[in-house]
Amino acid sequence: MRKKVIAGNWKMNKTLSEATQFVEEVAPKLEQSEQVDAIICAPFTQLATLVEKAKNTPLQISAQNMHYEESGAFTGEVSPVMLKDIGVTHVIIGHSERRQYFSETDETVNKKVHAAFEHGLTPIVCVGESLEQRQANETKSFVTSQVEKAIAGLDEALVAQMIIAYEPIWAIGTGKTATSKEANEVCQHIRQTIEEQTSKELADKIIIQYGGSVKPANVDELLAQSDIDGALVGGASLEAPSFIQLVEAGK
Ligand code: PGA
Repeated sequence: MRKKVIAGNWKMNKTLSEATQFVEEVAPKLEQSEQVDAIICAPFTQLATLVEKAKNTPLQISAQNMHYEESGAFTGEVSPVMLKDIGVTHVIIGHSERRQYFSETDETVNKKVHAAFEHGLTPIVCVGESLEQRQANETKSFVTSQVEKAIAGLDEALVAQMIIAYEPIWAIGTGKTATSKEANEVCQHIRQTIEEQTSKELADKIIIQYGGSVKPANVDELLAQSDIDGALVGGASLEAPSFIQLVEAGK
């Protein structure tokens, strides 16, 4: 049985005091669980404080992006070394908003995935099609290509340790969720792609999340699907009670 992984993606939200208050409220309420991992993906300015606040609790703290180099002349960027240094455990890579607004490409995603593993961070790699691609029946071929490019050159054993988040772009922040069947079909297809690139044993291990308008009202049905192992949640992760409900659903 794969663990469920519930990750809240706060995007560009919350001040440091709002973020701290959230973690102080949520972290003590989470129980160590064999069934579910809980992660908050916070803006850079909050990370060090939140790692301290979440210490000795089950809550893990993730970044939302990083550069692939260790250091150097990259004004405005944050490196994997810096994230590891403060105790961050995960990093989102290739979120569709980064691909869309900040020129992330499959190539930079691949470099970042390699860099994350080199520095002991677990990458949460986002893939997903646009509405046009879905309507043109290109979902599976597009997502396959994103996955293959993201894992290119990676040791097979590492592939199984990453998290893939399937997030159809048309479902993000729109209130439109893919039906659980639609979502599962693509997650299954991603697992198949991983199997072709590695082995069935490793493909059975990899965590594949669904993301896109996940909320307490629809999370149970999504998590009940055979190939959906968790959720990457934006809007519904911003309020503590709702995030706790989502994590509870993973049990
Ligand atoms: P949403 O965002 O839950 O607000 O749709 C999900 C995401 O972008 O990760």
